[in-house]
Amino acid sequence: LIELRDVNKYYGTLHVLQNITLTVGRGEVVVVIGPSGSGKSTLCRAINRLEIIESGRIIIDGQELPDEGKALAGLRADVGMVFQSFNLFAHKTVLENVSLAPVKVRKRVKGDADRRSRELLDRVGLADQAEKYPAQLSGGQQQRVAIARALAMDPKALLFDEPTSALDPDMINEVLEVMRQLAREGMTMVVVTHEMGFARSAANRVVFMSDGRIVEDRTPDDFFTAPRSERAKDFLSKIL
Ligand code: ATP
Ligand code: MG
Repeated sequence: LIELRDVNKYYGTLHVLQNITLTVGRGEVVVVIGPSGSGKSTLCRAINRLEIIESGRIIIDGQELPDEGKALAGLRADVGMVFQSFNLFAHKTVLENVSLAPVKVRKRVKGDADRRSRELLDRVGLADQAEKYPAQLSGGQQQRVAIARALAMDPKALLFDEPTSALDPDMINEVLEVMRQLAREGMTMVVVTHEMGFARSAANRVVFMSDGRIVEDRTPDDFFTAPRSERAKDFLSKIL
């Protein structure tokens, strides 16, 4: 469903993505891990062309992502993103946060969008919070709103960039549980996270990045029990 071929990106002289080739099949959950600065966020953003890439191809559901223009906006909407900072609209209610883009971008009728948004809020356990404002919710609840908002666009895939790193420990699980549920339902997901429990239990594959390269791309079992590269061994010894 998501295919990157020989993607290269530079920040000035820093070669931040080096010949990245990655395929994520429909319904697959790929967890991306690696040291700080290894290019994980840049990779996520590149998949959506939020970052300009210098070379390589990005193909979503058989369609090559153009560099820019209207076609890009349409294809970009097929891949939802959830960030570490929830990026909700502070002056809009929870319901408005979720239903806004479907009305504006997907041209849905407001009543339909609102109905569907309430269903999605119910799915992430927030049916009773629809009329509140983001500041009235906990971090974990805000992140679940952000997930509902991404789902409201009916994306073909979801990208998560450290969705739980800004959360207090007791709120991490409620967000991971929503993500596990999505995985079980067959959502295609790329997840940058430090939650190794999630990687072990929910991922089909673990991609380990270091210095802008994919160093390992294997099943969680293989990766965690027998990392091949010194860099991965070193990384795991620090976090496990
Ligand atoms: P972290 O785990 O800390 O989030 P990361 O793996 O997500 O790290 P990136 O944010 O993708 O890493 O950054 C990769 C490299 O690119 C880093 O060396 C970073 O300093 C650099 N970088 C990121 N964004 C920019 C930018 N806008 N301009 C210049 N350099 C950047
Ligand atoms: Mg990052």
